[in-house]
Amino acid sequence: PVRVRFCPSPTGNPHVGLVRTALFNWAYARHNGGTLVFRIEDTDAARDSEESYEQLLDSLRWLGLDWDEGPEAGGPHAPYRQSQRMEIYADVARRLKERGFAYECYCTTQELDERREAARAAGKPSGYDGACRELTPERVEAYRREVREPIVRFRMPDEPITFTDLVRGELTFTPENVPDFGIVRANGAPLYTLVNPVDDALMEITHVLRGEDLLSSTPRQIALYAALAEIGVGNGTTPRFAHLPYVMGEGNKKLSKRDPQSSLNLYRERGFLPEGLLNYLSLLGWSLAADRDVFTMDEMVAAFDLEAVNANPARFDLKKAEAINADHLRRLDVKDFVAACEPWLKAPYAPWAPEAFDAEAFEELAPLAQTRLTVLSDITANVDFLFLDEPVEEEASWQKAMKPGADALLRTAREKLAVVDWSAEPLKEAVLAAGEEHGLKLGKAQAPVRVAVTGRTVGLPLFESLEVLGRDRTLARIDAALA
Ligand code: GLU
Repeated sequence: PVRVRFCPSPTGNPHVGLVRTALFNWAYARHNGGTLVFRIEDTDAARDSEESYEQLLDSLRWLGLDWDEGPEAGGPHAPYRQSQRMEIYADVARRLKERGFAYECYCTTQELDERREAARAAGKPSGYDGACRELTPERVEAYRREVREPIVRFRMPDEPITFTDLVRGELTFTPENVPDFGIVRANGAPLYTLVNPVDDALMEITHVLRGEDLLSSTPRQIALYAALAEIGVGNGTTPRFAHLPYVMGEGNKKLSKRDPQSSLNLYRERGFLPEGLLNYLSLLGWSLAADRDVFTMDEMVAAFDLEAVNANPARFDLKKAEAINADHLRRLDVKDFVAACEPWLKAPYAPWAPEAFDAEAFEELAPLAQTRLTVLSDITANVDFLFLDEPVEEEASWQKAMKPGADALLRTAREKLAVVDWSAEPLKEAVLAAGEEHGLKLGKAQAPVRVAVTGRTVGLPLFESLEVLGRDRTLARIDAALA
């Protein structure tokens, strides 16, 4: 059975790269009827935070990416927070040392730096040189007398390591490129290099799907797995690895966590639907079919496999993300669209007084908004004219629409609107007729009316908007604009 894991460190805000990794693991588990393990890699007390942990859980829930084992779900390998598993790591590190798979390294940072520089200058590999691999008891004694605190270092095998990445194919790493590496700090704190593969082994992970940035740790983990099998940690099998392609942002640079575009909260606040965002993120390295960009998560799960994951970097394209989200908005039932808009119809997004909101008026215009928005947060500006006492004041819109002659047009339009049947079609006829009197086409004639009534140059179809707003308020706003 497939067992995959999503194992973020709780630092900072969740970002799109992280979500892409979670999504691919989730889809792989669901497609294969497998298990998704959610593990929190919080062994770095200096960087990890409880707030970030809560945000991770909240984000996955919002996205609808559910996990089978992990925080709150529990499971046979609990606890799933590494900060609660410290004795396990200490015990494994001790056994690795006992069996010679790891050793104590007394080199100071300064010594390491100096030797690295010297190796570099000589054009030699600059990784750890193995100085502490075979220390005599006398040497160890001498270091102890100097009160040097050793780290624990893993002894890499002297042969190349070859494995078949499920995305990239066969890869080989030579020993010069993968030197012995630290697994426990001098203060006893275990490192990612140890805790991640130890938990993957203990939690019987079968497939590791993660970003390409972690590719260089894979040969080390494979070597560590072999050692763990020897000391009886885990079930003795090594997982298969699949490294997901880099995501490139602006200017073809790797999208970084610090890039504002990569913050998950941004998409949430702008009103992406979870399905729309996930649909888009699934395209960062995968495709359902050459001609299908828009699909549901059920469709993704049904089709997801690793063969279709592309090794080439994926480009993050905000416009495309929005277009896909728009498509998902159009697919909602109107009542679901109305419900989805709710957060943006109140504080802090909505500028009107809560009691001014009129659900019926909103529901009348909602179908028109549903076919036009790209993100839900745009709803606020599209309907604020209904709930504010006075339309918003946008100097630029005013300048643009109130050209010379606009007053005259507005006066004529007002006369006609005062007596017309109050529904969209006759309203349109009235503005059309007013335009004709002033030699203006409908588009030019409706611009000043729109700005007078809504304060904006763009918005939902004008005559339906006026119909919902009502005659009295429409005329009052035109009067105010003429005053
Ligand atoms: N905690 C690691 C990270 O957040 C997990 C990496 C992995 O998937 O092995 O980058």
